[in-house]
Amino acid sequence: MSTVYQHSTLAALMGKVLGGSATLAELKEHGDTGIGTFDGLDGEMIMANGEVYYMDGEGTIHHVTDMAKTVPFATVHHASDSSEKVKFSAGNMKEMVSLIDDRELENTFSGVILQGSFAYMKVRSAPKSERPYPSLSEITKTQREFEETNISGTLIGYYSPELYQGTVAAGWHVHFLSDDRTFGGHVLGFDADKLEGDLTIFDNYELHLPIDNKEFREHHVDMDGLKEGVAAAEGSQD
Ligand SMILES: [Zn+2]
Repeated sequence: MSTVYQHSTLAALMGKVLGGSATLAELKEHGDTGIGTFDGLDGEMIMANGEVYYMDGEGTIHHVTDMAKTVPFATVHHASDSSEKVKFSAGNMKEMVSLIDDRELENTFSGVILQGSFAYMKVRSAPKSERPYPSLSEITKTQREFEETNISGTLIGYYSPELYQGTVAAGWHVHFLSDDRTFGGHVLGFDADKLEGDLTIFDNYELHLPIDNKEFREHHVDMDGLKEGVAAAEGSQD
């Protein structure tokens, strides 16, 4: 059995539920690898080998040791879950879909840990928001983008089926962390000749909801605006 564990929903983020509602310590009970964001939609979270990294709104990477720090949304799994070794080339984010298409995984949650050297990498990070929280689309307008060339590092991310759009952002959601731990974030685009690593096909999707969080309980999901909103806020660019 392999389990992908998710805290809260994309629809909650879209409903301005951005306050941290799970601690890193809680998350680490469910995985040593993963992605997310911090309290107030503060930057980007990357968990690799059980270590947590935070890319702030200015693009600087910090090693996080305070496991009481909270997240409003995150996805994690254990790197030791059974996985398949994969090797492929991807000139951009869109080509990562070949991993899914080649194996008929369209209706399955999958995760990757992929090493490579990247001729080009483009990431984004949002500065922390304060209450009353703005909408994701307003935040998307103020987020900053950062580019790097000839950088080696690891892609960590998840593929979610279209069926779960709104609970998650359907398709790939991938973060990057450079080998020297100085660059990373939410991936918008990249260029790599060769990517190599592990693909985990999850047979178990565990969704944890912040039921004690007042803002989570009070938010209303706009089903009509959901699909466009998720694509605008979380989509990749190439
Ligand atoms: Zn992200």
